[in-house]
Amino acid sequence: MSHLSILSAAGLPQAALSGGTRSVTSPIDGSEIACLAETGIAAMPDIIARAQAAFRDWRTVPAPRRGELVRLLGEELRRAKAELGAVVTLEVGKITSEGLGEVQEMIDICDFATGLSRQLYGLTIASERPGHRMAETWHPIGPVGIISAFNFPVAVWSWNAALALVCGNPIIWKPSEKSPLTAMAAHRCLERAIARFGDAPDGLSQLVIGGPEIGAALVDSPDVPVLSATGSTGMGRIVGPKVLARWGRPILELGGNNAMIVAPSADLDMAVRAIVFSAVGTAGQRCTSLRRLIVHKGIRETLVEKLKAAYSSLPVGDPRESGTLVGPLVDTDARAAMLAQLERARSEGGVVHGGVAVTEGVPAGGAYVTPALVEMPGQTDTVRTETFAPILYVMEYETLEEAIAMHNDVPQGLSSCIFTLDLREAETFLSASGSDCGIANVNIGPSGAEIGGAFGGEKETGGGRESGSDAWKGYMRRQTSTINYSAHLPLAQGVKFDI
Ligand code: NAD
Repeated sequence: MSHLSILSAAGLPQAALSGGTRSVTSPIDGSEIACLAETGIAAMPDIIARAQAAFRDWRTVPAPRRGELVRLLGEELRRAKAELGAVVTLEVGKITSEGLGEVQEMIDICDFATGLSRQLYGLTIASERPGHRMAETWHPIGPVGIISAFNFPVAVWSWNAALALVCGNPIIWKPSEKSPLTAMAAHRCLERAIARFGDAPDGLSQLVIGGPEIGAALVDSPDVPVLSATGSTGMGRIVGPKVLARWGRPILELGGNNAMIVAPSADLDMAVRAIVFSAVGTAGQRCTSLRRLIVHKGIRETLVEKLKAAYSSLPVGDPRESGTLVGPLVDTDARAAMLAQLERARSEGGVVHGGVAVTEGVPAGGAYVTPALVEMPGQTDTVRTETFAPILYVMEYETLEEAIAMHNDVPQGLSSCIFTLDLREAETFLSASGSDCGIANVNIGPSGAEIGGAFGGEKETGGGRESGSDAWKGYMRRQTSTINYSAHLPLAQGVKFDI
């Protein structure tokens, strides 16, 4: 299928994709696939005002009815799964099964949020005063701004959108400038769901196209009480304080530097499969990609040999072809950054296996590389930095205490795991003195989370939580109420104030 027919099948005819100034290219072959009109900065106040107007209606729609809209979105996504997945592959270079997996994740969160719409539970709290009852209630909070990264061009939006909508909030989405087409195709699915729903307010969901300056209009507006931003730590460092300075609520999902500890008792064959998937899947461009391997000294050599063998046969190439496991990096800048980082690792004593540009047997114009395995003498500054590419640093340890200390000694705190068959080691890793990450796994890799759990991480990963568990509370305002059904007015803490 040609690039144009992939886009057209996803509801994006050529006419909608040309005539603007924002060039969009495919990482598969570097070709331009659209030149989009951007949202003007001057239009942002009206867009935000429309969302505020929509909020006044949507917040009064009963939550289970709001859930019906998200159920319809899930239906639309089921219908459009193949077409939307193909746009993910075309625009960000994910292999076909990962493109489809991304859409499946959207469907899953819609199912979750539909059920959630009947479970936005509050609390009844025992009051210390006779004839009083206390309650905690959750209310819609207002328009939610969603700024997303290129590497999960639609799934991260759906985590936010599905929850925000059932929680009673309009949404304004600014996707990555590298993946606006996937966003447009996904937003059409929501527009179809809204049309079938019938009476949703205008402006309930809006999509804006542009770069950081358009995102900044959402970041700076006091009329956008919740701002969810996914991307690099550098972006979060700017966005987080700006949202807080205007008393907004940031939900930050930033960079990771995820590690696996491999203990002497580990099932090495299972570990190898988990390592390869999480280090080279999505060409190392997941926030949860495995970047650091901390291996017990006694098994390091054996494990490195197995990994070298596995890495040597990895099919790198066109992500649309079945059999390809490693597609392109998002662009040539990403490849240059990867190669520069490998040079730095070498200068710090690293021994690099792989990590070279691939030009044979791949579409011309794309940024293809072989994944790199780098044996490091220790956890240097380069290892402590997130490089958004398939680089896996290998280091060794002698005691679990030392391994956990090395594991936690990075600025980021997203995802982590241990491979061990020793219960004491596994539980120690999950304990208060174990991994300091938002996600900690045993005998599975750090990437590929399910939507049922709260997703996010600590330290420079930003502290936000999205998706499952009680992450929905981040999209609502909490109200504590005390109801006096007695004929007296006692004060709390025994305070007397008789007049
Ligand atoms: P990026 O930071 O370059 O861009 C992310 C988004 O932020 C884009 O939409 C961009 O336009 C916007 N943006 C950038 N500066 C801004 C500003 N000053 N004001 C408002 N908006 C601004 O990130 P990227 O290259 O698209 O994505 C890769 C990064 O995202 C990696 O660091 C990865 O770990 C991280 N990521 C984190 C998660 C997570 O859940 N923790 C998920 C996906 C990606």
